Amino acid sequence: MEKIKSKGYAMFSKDGPFRPYEFERHAVGDNDILIKIMYAGICHSDIHQARSEWNEKEHYPMVPGHEIVGQVIQVGKNVTKFKVGDYAGVGCMVNSCKDPNCETCRHNREQECVDAVFTYASKDKFHGGEITQGGYSNNIVISEEFAIKVPADADFEKVAPLLCAGITTYSPIQFSKVRKGDKVAVAGFGGLGHMAVQYLVRIGADVTVFDVSEEKREVAMKMGAKEFVDVSKSPNFYKDHLNEFYFILSTIPAKYDMSAYLRMLKFGGEFAIVGLPATKNLPSISLNSFVFTPNRKIYGSMIGGIKETQEMLDYSVENNIYPKVKIIKGTPDEVAKQITEAYNTIVNGEVQFRFVIDMRNL
Ligand code: NDP
Ligand code: ZN
Ligand code: ZN
Repeated sequence: MEKIKSKGYAMFSKDGPFRPYEFERHAVGDNDILIKIMYAGICHSDIHQARSEWNEKEHYPMVPGHEIVGQVIQVGKNVTKFKVGDYAGVGCMVNSCKDPNCETCRHNREQECVDAVFTYASKDKFHGGEITQGGYSNNIVISEEFAIKVPADADFEKVAPLLCAGITTYSPIQFSKVRKGDKVAVAGFGGLGHMAVQYLVRIGADVTVFDVSEEKREVAMKMGAKEFVDVSKSPNFYKDHLNEFYFILSTIPAKYDMSAYLRMLKFGGEFAIVGLPATKNLPSISLNSFVFTPNRKIYGSMIGGIKETQEMLDYSVENNIYPKVKIIKGTPDEVAKQITEAYNTIVNGEVQFRFVIDMRNL
């Protein structure tokens, strides 16, 4: 079977700029589809990984990107879920063991499977140990089970970030069963945070936003938040909100005071953590904070399984819930330069809210 030729944008070392890059993907197997990528979002996780901030073994050249949408241009002979011409999305995972005896795959939580293959910089044991390459590229081959169906009436410029920013915030909101009228908070109002606020407002929850940029206050209020707190103004920001929230979602990608958030939870409240800062900036919490703020729960959440990702996508498109995006496009050299610049812009906090790369002319 013939390998697929791909073009994309890669980082060649942890400090390097993006440059156009040509590579090969594995052939389209009987259960696979080939997607011509239209748009790919830039997630803060791409930056953590491309800059080797998570202390994991990173592989260069690295083509990041796990917020992908495109059109199906080839299908394997056993494929039933897609036909040529359909639209498909790809998120953070491209495979897992799918063994009916696997506890996590069986319960639609493939992201936890010990054999999960992530969309880029991940060793793919199902394809001879090749290292996966992500969505800042013109095409991708994926098993049909891991591709998400995207309706033809979706807003294509905006739909890609749902595949990570959408599912990562939707999933803990479902897990904690947030209901209409609940007092809730979102910490970090960026790519993930502004999706979380939209889902929570849609449910009818009473939402407070905690962020470090005063410039985001107006957007947060327009989105339906009840209150915006600029936490950079005082380390005691939490004192006005003690024992208040049933649910808090942290998307913060930097070091912060976790106990401040714990203390804002009410009795029985839940603190869901999705933001994963660089290893050298990881926040921690002391045992006495737990004991002296009793009966509050803290849990982490990682993207969401394929079934829930499909549910989130359908729900988002139906309810017109999309990210606010800034499109990157141009010649390959211009795009490579703009991605490099976008990384700095995101880290400096100057983007509202998600960069999306237009891949249609690559
Ligand atoms: P963004 O950079 O788009 O958003 C982060 C936001 O947090 C920004 O608005 C930033 O403000 C704000 N912020 C920074 N420091 C603080 C602070 N101390 N208190 C409150 N707000 C703060 O990143 P993303 O939304 O793309 O990603 C967020 C994090 O989530 C990353 O660490 C990423 O790796 C992780 N992630 C985790 C996933 C999972 O499955 N668990 C999936 C996807 C992402 P400013 O920009 O002004 O600095
Ligand atoms: Zn992501
Ligand atoms: Zn499994």
